[in-house]
Amino acid sequence: MDRTTSPHAAVADLGAADLIAWLSRFGELISENQQVLSDLDASTGDADHGSNMERGFAHISAVMGTWDSGMTPGALLKQIGLHTVNTVGGSSGALYGTVFLRLARVVGNADPIDAPLLVAGFREAEQGVRERGKVQLGDKTMLDALAPAVDALRYEVERGTALRPAFQAAACAAEGGRDATTNMTARRGKSSYARERSRGFVDPGAASMALLVRAAAITAPGPDC
Ligand code: ADP
Ligand code: MG
Repeated sequence: MDRTTSPHAAVADLGAADLIAWLSRFGELISENQQVLSDLDASTGDADHGSNMERGFAHISAVMGTWDSGMTPGALLKQIGLHTVNTVGGSSGALYGTVFLRLARVVGNADPIDAPLLVAGFREAEQGVRERGKVQLGDKTMLDALAPAVDALRYEVERGTALRPAFQAAACAAEGGRDATTNMTARRGKSSYARERSRGFVDPGAASMALLVRAAAITAPGPDC
């Protein structure tokens, strides 16, 4: 469809500026929720998830402002992925890094990214978490928030929903997935040492992942419906 004559096609695309808005908002949400995330990790792990994420995404928010404004979305996602691995640290740094690097790989040189390509990128990002973490649904990890979000995004985009409401549906699905981790027993990562003690608490990585998708819903371009 011709973007110059179709307003709907234009608002279904994501450019580098939209990615910067998304990741900046995510950094703010992480900062606001840092204590909650670390407290959740204290219940089942080593109490550092909030500080790991805050350190990394504060750095990323700062350096994003210095990057060349002509960068393609894919180049930007690749840089974000590399900085995530290097500055977030821990298991979550490697896993979030995988999310952004797989997204970058799939979107390639597309500028802007159209909605179907974005869905393909998120499906690959989910696959990356499964492979890198050796994790399945129900293991009480960030995957339990990411996978339902990717399913919802895909469903909405395939039926022609614009990007912003599609991300709103994905954010609700991620938050449902996050809440469902409460009754799961951790089988991966440091919380798996706590086994049955991990029950009764939301997984911290699922909580931060839900914030990532919520940040996309808040910043995605276009109309609400
Ligand atoms: P660390 O576990 O190294 O202290 P964080 O506390 O920052 O790192 O992150 C913990 C979160 O990372 C967990 O709540 C979980 O969601 C996620 N996580 C840990 N290990 C895995 C894994 N193998 N696969 C998927 N997610 C994982
Ligand atoms: Mg931890």
